[in-house]
Amino acid sequence: MTIRARSTLFSVLLLGLQLVALSARPAQAQAVTPQLKLSVHWEELTAADFREGIHRSQGTCLLPFGILEKHGPHLPLGTDLLDVRYAALHAAEREYAVVFPEYYFGQIAEARHEPGTIAYSRDLQLALLQETTDEMARNGCRKILIVNGHGGNESLLPYFAQSQLDKPHDYVVYVFDERTPPSGGPAKKTSIDMHAGESETSKMMIARPDTVHLDRAAGESGADQHRQNLPDDVYTGIWWYARFPFHYSGDGSAATAELGKFQMDWWIESVAKVIKAVKADDVSLKLQNEFYEKSKHPLDTQP
Ligand SMILES: [Zn+2]
Repeated sequence: MTIRARSTLFSVLLLGLQLVALSARPAQAQAVTPQLKLSVHWEELTAADFREGIHRSQGTCLLPFGILEKHGPHLPLGTDLLDVRYAALHAAEREYAVVFPEYYFGQIAEARHEPGTIAYSRDLQLALLQETTDEMARNGCRKILIVNGHGGNESLLPYFAQSQLDKPHDYVVYVFDERTPPSGGPAKKTSIDMHAGESETSKMMIARPDTVHLDRAAGESGADQHRQNLPDDVYTGIWWYARFPFHYSGDGSAATAELGKFQMDWWIESVAKVIKAVKADDVSLKLQNEFYEKSKHPLDTQP
């Protein structure tokens, strides 16, 4: 072998070594690459990214719960869905969690007389919610946080969560049902403010201002009609219709974007805090499992 041939061989070997080094580089680079930006939207993730999302969220998934119902004369039918998704998605961006797609299959029998209401039967509401959370859990969501956006679900959701004790589940259902800060922020102008009123209209001015028709808000009455004469602690299903037959409670024309921003920021911050607390909760699932085990042989349970 001539010196020239030897140096050529050396060059080829060197090139080969460089190529090996180059091909090894991506793997090394991957190890030091900062975390991949992952969507919080369940439906936007690829299958592989979904696996990473579940890992990153420590199995914490959000189920924002809306509804389709009349919202006074000035807000869209999907107000609760649009608002709750705005809050939940922004919260999950702050404290990573996987957010389930649009869900609006809740309790709204009291608005069946108004156009555009979708009111599923009682059995279907419970069955669909159970199968949805079961399917979420089968995909790794060990902690399912239902973020409620609709007042008419306030009995359904605690009942659903409590009924998870009827048989073993390998996941925990958490319910967060607050949408409006108890105090603070710009002074409110109205005292009745339960549905499509000052607060809800203000929040929609942040979530989806393009859907708010403020000029129509005074076109119907959202006053309390007081049509039932019963003590406050007696409940009937018709109470809402008795008080607010037009499915409007309050006065949306008092809404402002300033109040909306204060309330929406509070809502997002509150949901983010709850996600953090849920991630840190290592007690509930253990206690559920202990409970399920004991409930198989109640006579052995000792105080
Ligand atoms: Zn609403």
